[in-house]
Amino acid sequence: MSDSNDLAGLVAAVHADVAGRIGEGRVADYIPALAKVDPKQFGIAIITCEGETAAAGDAGTAFSIQSVSKVFTLTMVLERLGEKLWERLGREPSGSAFNSIVQLEQERGVPRNPFINAGALVTTDVLMAGRSPRIVIDEILGFLRERTDDGSIAFDAEVARSEAETGFRNRSLANFIRAFRNLAHPVDDVLDVYFHQCAIAMTCRQLARAGLYLANAGLDPVDGDRVASGETARRINAVMLTCGHYDASGDFAYRVGLPGKSGVGGGILAIAPRRASIAVWSPGLNAAGNSLVGSLALERLTARTGWSVF
Ligand code: GLU
Repeated sequence: MSDSNDLAGLVAAVHADVAGRIGEGRVADYIPALAKVDPKQFGIAIITCEGETAAAGDAGTAFSIQSVSKVFTLTMVLERLGEKLWERLGREPSGSAFNSIVQLEQERGVPRNPFINAGALVTTDVLMAGRSPRIVIDEILGFLRERTDDGSIAFDAEVARSEAETGFRNRSLANFIRAFRNLAHPVDDVLDVYFHQCAIAMTCRQLARAGLYLANAGLDPVDGDRVASGETARRINAVMLTCGHYDASGDFAYRVGLPGKSGVGGGILAIAPRRASIAVWSPGLNAAGNSLVGSLALERLTARTGWSVF
């Protein structure tokens, strides 16, 4: 696969657009292992539906994908369970913090959407049916290794440990959901899988490659694998657009105009339907918890290309 000149020129231009801002924002510090990451890093990688790739900056540096993992577990669950998932989970933007407990109480243990922490815990619980935590973690890694054709993708054990040691809120959310009988498995087992899926480390190149099926109606155009039905891919994109950036999803739609999912590690996976899959990473976050420079880069990208879905 060779980098196309135009695409290489595009990522170079976007990189130049944001170069003066790299280092802005605050790294997530509620997970101690993430607080140590150098904020002066930025990477971008694009892969098109024709299989062309281009990358710039620190696109080969692995980072903690955190909540971006929720896109992949949602894909796995929808393929297994289909529409029945929505009996246990909503698909509306939350309008409140990603780790809010108040909303969960008001809505009787049915999380607002699969991308807030509570919703991802339910998704993980569904994935666990009939499987041990170890098997499920392996299945999630297997999914990503297959999508990228890269067996080296792994989780960062230090990040997983750090989350387990400090994940009091996630533990509370899981106990709350279980109290409402919306978790079938023991809280510790669900958290074990959840913390490991969030601790998966990937580079921008790998992440863009992994998400390519979402840009091409569920069919990976490079290896020809049918990863999800066209309908499932369309629906995941819809949830990414409306719920993928915490309670700033509206602002991301306004500024960037693409389905996207961000994580507190500073990564964002964005999908330009029928065109390309894009991954950006820069660890400094804005007030809403989304990568500050990453969002800016995507804003510049859609301004330059007209790839907004609107
Ligand atoms: N593992 C993080 C948490 O549960 C994920 C947060 C995120 O990236 O949104 O707090």
